[in-house]
Amino acid sequence: MDLLNTLVDKGLRRELPTREEALAVLATSDDDVLDVVAAAGKVRRQWFGRRVKLNYLVNLKSGLCPEDCSYCSQRLGSSTGILKYSWLKPDEASRAAAAGLAGGAKRVCLVASGRGPTDRDVDRVAGTIKAIKEQNEGVEVCACLGLLSDGQAERLREAGADAYNHNLNTSEGTYGDITTTHTYADRVDTVNKAHAAGLSACSGLIAGMGESDEDLVDVVFSLRELDPDSVPVNFLIPVEGTPLAKEWNLTPQRCLRILAMVRFVCPDVEVRIAGGREVHLRTMQPLALHLANSIFLGDYLTTEGQAGQADLEMIADAGFTVEGADEVTLPQHRAELQGAGCGSHGAEGAGCGSHTAEGAGCGSHAEGGCGSVCGSHEDVAAAVTVAANEPRTDLVAVRRRGAGTDLAPNA
Ligand code: SF4
Repeated sequence: MDLLNTLVDKGLRRELPTREEALAVLATSDDDVLDVVAAAGKVRRQWFGRRVKLNYLVNLKSGLCPEDCSYCSQRLGSSTGILKYSWLKPDEASRAAAAGLAGGAKRVCLVASGRGPTDRDVDRVAGTIKAIKEQNEGVEVCACLGLLSDGQAERLREAGADAYNHNLNTSEGTYGDITTTHTYADRVDTVNKAHAAGLSACSGLIAGMGESDEDLVDVVFSLRELDPDSVPVNFLIPVEGTPLAKEWNLTPQRCLRILAMVRFVCPDVEVRIAGGREVHLRTMQPLALHLANSIFLGDYLTTEGQAGQADLEMIADAGFTVEGADEVTLPQHRAELQGAGCGSHGAEGAGCGSHTAEGAGCGSHAEGGCGSVCGSHEDVAAAVTVAANEPRTDLVAVRRRGAGTDLAPNA
């Protein structure tokens, strides 16, 4: 297919596809899905080889959020029945992080619900980062605390944070349909603050909220302009008790096309499969490793993922390797820019475009936040006759273990 040959050539040269080319990837048929995966897989291997980076979520503060993000089970008025708790103590968070690191993760993502942190909250998280870094040499720490005020990104950087996550989630044009309590521009501003403070920016999207192909291309092109080092791609988990509970729009093939499009637009950026991996890709998860070079290990913020051991076995069976702590995630040209600290992200070259745009929103939660998954294996066996685009509520289980409980975490 000429389209795919063109996109592979561009991806290997870190050239931006046109919007029409990105839309054409989303419009390919299920018959072509293996060709699409093979093409985007060449770009993935060029920049990331066969490595898979594992990230581990620690939900520092769960639920009780005054914001109204429609996709989120932690929002005001959610009746999902998730775990609700206030800030974990540094030693509790450090224990949870250690479980993920022992399972093979190299990055710990510290997430808190809410519009954004107070300065006191930032101090609290600074203590947690310090505790985790003291006890786990070489660990990468990403904070995800919502909208940042002036000076907070710098404070987190000083405390040892390596990265900050705040997702754009959806296109600027549809943002107001998803959330009314903050704006798309607020989100962009926080991503830019993270960049300016020298933090590695992590910003991504949620697919499956009823958006059009144009919306998906818009948000991915906006992300490319923001130039994050990592782009988490969430597939909406339509959790009961949230306004989007009926939005079961995704098939495994659709998820693969979306990941391929993101890979072509951001060829040398860490593309992470985030919430919804197990719910929407299901048995097609191994194919998605040919597109993304990063996943979350274990559970998400408010829902359960498949067993950490199953993640590791899937990676090995598919012929990939877990990225070690001594391996650099990003290709050399991007890693050097990151090492140079801040502003450099604005630079050109580095793959995902210039750092002009505005940013993304409250982060966290987009990802695992309103996350995903799993469910008992007996339920899966009973549901095998369900068509690819039917609701799979049987695969969604609210998290009842790990942080905020007395039970061991899944890692
Ligand atoms: S996504 Fe974040 S800000 Fe929005 S409702 Fe959920 S926890 Fe609150």
